[in-house]
Amino acid sequence: MENTIRYESTNRSAPKVTFSEALLKGLAPDKGLYMPDSIPVLDKETLAGMRGSSYPRIALTVARHLLTGEIADHELEKMTADAYNFPVPLEKVTGRKYIMRLDQGPTASFKDFAARMMGRLMQYFLQKENRNMLILTATSGDTGSAIANAFYGLSNIRVVILYPEHEVTTRQRKQMTTLRKNIGIVALNGKFDDCQALVKQAFTDPDLDYMDLSSANSINIGRLLPQSFYYFYAWSQLAQTADEEVIFSVPSGNFGNLMGGLLAKRMGLPIKKFVISTNENDEVPVYWQTGNYKTVVPSRNCISSAMNVGHPSNMSRVIALYDGIMDENGSILREPDTARMHRDIAAFSITDNRTIDTIRLVFSDYGIITEPHGAAGWAGLSDYLRRNTADDNDNQLCISLETAHPAKFPEEIRKVLNLDPPLPHSLAGLDDEKETFDRLSNNYAEFKKYLIGRF
Ligand SMILES: *Cc1c(COP(=O)(O)O)cnc(C)c1O
Repeated sequence: MENTIRYESTNRSAPKVTFSEALLKGLAPDKGLYMPDSIPVLDKETLAGMRGSSYPRIALTVARHLLTGEIADHELEKMTADAYNFPVPLEKVTGRKYIMRLDQGPTASFKDFAARMMGRLMQYFLQKENRNMLILTATSGDTGSAIANAFYGLSNIRVVILYPEHEVTTRQRKQMTTLRKNIGIVALNGKFDDCQALVKQAFTDPDLDYMDLSSANSINIGRLLPQSFYYFYAWSQLAQTADEEVIFSVPSGNFGNLMGGLLAKRMGLPIKKFVISTNENDEVPVYWQTGNYKTVVPSRNCISSAMNVGHPSNMSRVIALYDGIMDENGSILREPDTARMHRDIAAFSITDNRTIDTIRLVFSDYGIITEPHGAAGWAGLSDYLRRNTADDNDNQLCISLETAHPAKFPEEIRKVLNLDPPLPHSLAGLDDEKETFDRLSNNYAEFKKYLIGRF
């Protein structure tokens, strides 16, 4: 079957492209982000058929609707089975309130869900076009390890990751340096910004054009689509009827996670409300309250460090979904349908103190260990329910997303709960493994020589 979905830029001044073009390009030429120009709606029977089904099956059903005509069905089936080979627990907290643990993947972060599927999609299209690609990424820790693990062992793709030698934790480093195969790791004698500057320079260096460089960063459409799958999954496991409505609470930084949820809602999943919680980087909750969007510069350092974002790149997608236009600098060029936006989404900013109190409370009340990002999500849900008493009852299904494993934040957890969170399987085995990486000084000529030597 022919796929009629095309991808258009949020800035609306670039040509529409197919899924594979958007996937391999990343950013649109007018600096906007790619969005589907139409969203398929799943019928009631399809949704009802998901109830109680496995994660890979549900991922396949949703992916099939989004990618009809782009990928043969048996290939998609292989991809979803291969990408989602770990559990996705739904932990009951109280009444019909649950926490969905997106922390059981290879790097114990929800970013595994998107990166693993994106890697396999890229591999598929590169093989088909007989192309090879080099993914270059600068990391301050977590993104690099998710990308490295997601792309590990794939064909037609090599990965080079630069990290600041003295600014990542031992565990973060080992998640990257113990992989090898198609993954190259560079410890740079510099800071994160230096890593990023070298990567940027490589992208604009015509001598390296032959390498077909890509960044595989968080704005890639290939990362967005798979983030709709777990919303379907959570609902399918917990809904008691085929049209039971659910409230999702989403701890947010760059708003890619929320975008996945919004996509699921447009595809017909019965979602009553999204509660979004930021940390003290409150530009989005302030925009919700006042209608004025103002970036937070520089971004504020909070303990939920993966959400320290002063201008979320996916906001332009959220605005586009509600028929507005926001450019890459955060200027709103066309007003979105704010009434509909506010009907769908409630926004809260959670302070660090509140986050800490929530980690303590959730543990003392329910015996559940949360980490700073998930705790912010739970706090936002509590705020929402306090203000919307009609939804605050034991019949309302609420699911709060836990985006990382508590063992990734041992110092915070120890300080608040006075205990060491048990290491998940994926992190436990790292200690004895051999590490391989290259050391480079902060110098472009040297970095370029390294790249040319390897590729
Ligand atoms: C990236 C990340 C987030 C933020 O997700 P967005 O999609 O950027 O909103 C939240 N929690 C953790 C642990 C993350 O790594």
